[in-house]
Amino acid sequence: MKTTAEIRRDFLDFFAARGHTIVPSAPLVPGNDPTLLFTNSGMVQFKDVFLGAEKRSYVRAADVQRCLRAGGKHNDLDQVGYTARHHTFFEMLGNWSFGDYFKRDAIAWAWELLTQVWKLPPERLLVTVYHTDDEAYGIWHDVVGLPAERIVRIGDNKGAPFASDNFWQMADTGPCGPCTEIFYDHGAHIPGGPPGSPDEDGDRFIEIWNLVFMQFDRQPDGTLLPLPAPCVDTGMGLERLAAVLQGVHGNYEIDLFRRLIAAAAALTGTADLDNKSLRVIADHIRACSFLIVDGVLPSNEGRGYVLRRIIRRALRHGWMLGVRGEFFWKMVAPLVEAMGEAYPELVDQRGLVESALRAEEERFGETLEHGMRIFDEVAASDAVGPARVIPGAEAFRLYDTYGFPVDLTADIARERGLTVDMAGFDAAMAQQRAAARAAGKFGGGATLPAELVAHLQPTQFLGYDTLAADGLDVVA
Ligand code: ATP
Ligand code: MG
Ligand code: MG
Ligand code: MG
Repeated sequence: MKTTAEIRRDFLDFFAARGHTIVPSAPLVPGNDPTLLFTNSGMVQFKDVFLGAEKRSYVRAADVQRCLRAGGKHNDLDQVGYTARHHTFFEMLGNWSFGDYFKRDAIAWAWELLTQVWKLPPERLLVTVYHTDDEAYGIWHDVVGLPAERIVRIGDNKGAPFASDNFWQMADTGPCGPCTEIFYDHGAHIPGGPPGSPDEDGDRFIEIWNLVFMQFDRQPDGTLLPLPAPCVDTGMGLERLAAVLQGVHGNYEIDLFRRLIAAAAALTGTADLDNKSLRVIADHIRACSFLIVDGVLPSNEGRGYVLRRIIRRALRHGWMLGVRGEFFWKMVAPLVEAMGEAYPELVDQRGLVESALRAEEERFGETLEHGMRIFDEVAASDAVGPARVIPGAEAFRLYDTYGFPVDLTADIARERGLTVDMAGFDAAMAQQRAAARAAGKFGGGATLPAELVAHLQPTQFLGYDTLAADGLDVVA
């Protein structure tokens, strides 16, 4: 069985042998883009190279990039615990060509790595191409030899002209181009249809690798001019690939997650290792620890508030498992054991991660139980009505008095077949802000002991408006 560590190494070795420079992972907080909350894919650190604004000493690169999809445009937080394949924090294996090789090599190497190095049965793999990309179709069909029934053309079927999953663009203008994605069929016993079918969101056919071909420069009027030197940007989820190579269906069954889940089970006294809450805790300890390693601390705004939300969700899952004391910060030790070799910065900052999490755990521990009681009372009362909606004012009371971020309340509600009146929540929030402004005081403020804060460079927070517009619920 291939371990996660071996897979990382295989990937880098394969591309190093084909002339790629191995580049370290960038931090989760992008250094080059104030409009982006978190590094959510491998290409983020190369953005300026694609735009031509930055030159590197190499034209081929490969890396293992830590990514976070929680908050902002890419937000998989609500998928965690519900699908077999989504994490908030995950590792993306990627190879790049900056104006060097293009579709033919990128596709041929991906196929070689999957079917010859890792020996995946070709009949389990299928691919999508963008509906007009005859070049990629031709390479899959004629060079690789994939039969037509396993090459799916994906059109612009999701509304807006460029909304397709198979057409990538960095922004409204600039570099863009078609993608081809590789899927693995986990078998007919799992619900879900192939890509492009109505039930494609099931977990039978799991997308493992996305190959993006940047070949156009989109003009303000929408026309696509060919780029003089087309680029390749690929991303493959390490955990999804590990599941395939380890012969398990879900990401949470791979070696790395088994260890974290076993640790969470021991700390929470849970016998059933398939319990969803254990998965959420195992996912969230990675996201929270790496955020702190990369300079984010829990707070009431911006990135810090995303971190706080993830921590509180994890703590609530511990509470559901019957924990009434501290447990979450104790997950750092097993995490360091499982991932410290690949990420020495995690080992170095272990003490800081533990104390930051512990401080937050103490803080929220005081109100969690009380808040849960309030939630139960509201849920059982007439206030939810026949539509089964938690009133916005109640969600706001949970937020304001008990520190329940509204997405936490919505998550608890979802488990019980309820929803939250978000518009009502926003209205209550706006009202309170107006009142606070009128009274000349401001909410928020420091939330951690000063000596902890002093250890860290504060997260630069440049694009408040852009971040807010990016879909983050900012609370100041
Ligand atoms: P999906 O459609 O399954 O949500 P995606 O199309 O959003 O995936 P991409 O943006 O193409 O994913 O990212 C490249 C690769 O990163 C994916 O093919 C997948 O292997 C992996 N990946 C994406 N999102 C996640 C996630 N939340 N957790 C784990 N791996 C992920
Ligand atoms: Mg996705
Ligand atoms: Mg996809
Ligand atoms: Mg994709």
